[in-house]
Amino acid sequence: MQDSYALLAPGPVNLHPKVRELLSAPMLHHRTPEFDKILARTLQNIKKIFQTEQSVYLISCTGSGGMEALLVNTCSPGDKIIAINSGKFGERWAEMARVFGLNVIEEKVNWGSAVEVKRVEELLSQHPDTRAVLCQACETSTAVRHPIEKIAQLTKPLPNTLLLVDAITALGAYSIPMDAWGVDGLVGGSQKAFMLPTGMSFVSFSQKAWGFVKTAKLPRFYFDVREEDKANKKGETWFSSNVAIIRALDWVLSDIFSKGLPKHFAEIERRAAMTRHFGERLGFKLYSQAPAASVTALQVPEGIDSQKVRTQLEQEKNITIMGGQDQLKGKVLRVGHMGYITDDDMLRLFVGLKELVPQISDISVEQVKIEFAKWQKENPC
Ligand SMILES: *Cc1c(COP(=O)(O)O)cnc(C)c1O
Repeated sequence: MQDSYALLAPGPVNLHPKVRELLSAPMLHHRTPEFDKILARTLQNIKKIFQTEQSVYLISCTGSGGMEALLVNTCSPGDKIIAINSGKFGERWAEMARVFGLNVIEEKVNWGSAVEVKRVEELLSQHPDTRAVLCQACETSTAVRHPIEKIAQLTKPLPNTLLLVDAITALGAYSIPMDAWGVDGLVGGSQKAFMLPTGMSFVSFSQKAWGFVKTAKLPRFYFDVREEDKANKKGETWFSSNVAIIRALDWVLSDIFSKGLPKHFAEIERRAAMTRHFGERLGFKLYSQAPAASVTALQVPEGIDSQKVRTQLEQEKNITIMGGQDQLKGKVLRVGHMGYITDDDMLRLFVGLKELVPQISDISVEQVKIEFAKWQKENPC
């Protein structure tokens, strides 16, 4: 029997069977009492993932659109921005800011490392006129977790400087308490930690950020959060609601809260710990110096092409993980820990990797299975 397909990428992710069922349910019109209820509940519940009292907006666009929404709603042409670039997504946000005519101070961080808080502090004192610091919570291309809480401690006392955070592979995967930390703009994405198909992003702004939302002069129409806010207050979305995804999001949120957010985060952290442990047992090194819970990057030894391994894994084992991008092409395997993933999927991944690159460790397939059972016992979910 063919093993079922496992999508273990750092987004998009395996969908829960209930999500798949909801996605194929008959379409509802978005102006119906039935959908009104779903929307109202979702707008309330998603705030608990952001851990905020502020409104959260559901916009139909991929995560990058949400990143754009944070910029255009808070910045004006020529505004100075400090953009932390520690990988592909940091690079994208800096590029986006330049396209919009912002004055971008790009801080390149060695791939695999987190930005040093001390360096951000230096930059902020060199550039006291900074409107916003842009940073990923988790830089998915390198599996690095950045010290957002500490960076927020630097920006929080500055009345004219915002901290905008791309938490697309963090929000929903581990705790990012927006209000408690003092994050000013936060974005999450549907196909990552929200365990849904691609197509929506979720954004929120602090009270401090709202001061700038009112005066920002970058062009904005589709992403104008003031209009979305007005519509939400009437129980609607500004444009046609993304009924299919919102209906599934409503279920995902209720499922998370029925377990409890701490347990949900612990499950993801457990998969990350499992991957780090067995990745090393199988002969890989951990690439990230500051590993995130949502994705693990396993470095392959010299002489092995990770791109080939990931393709074989897909064709022969029916499992998708990702390789590396740019300077990491061929050098790492990236395993996502978000989404509907069972321990069986994880064991299949480790056994599959052992079978495809047997030469990099002494452990046998049998031994992998034995140690996996032992690990499960010691680390119950
Ligand atoms: C996936 C991802 C994005 C958004 O990508 P889209 O393809 O636009 O959804 C942005 N930032 C990070 C860190 C991501 O992992």
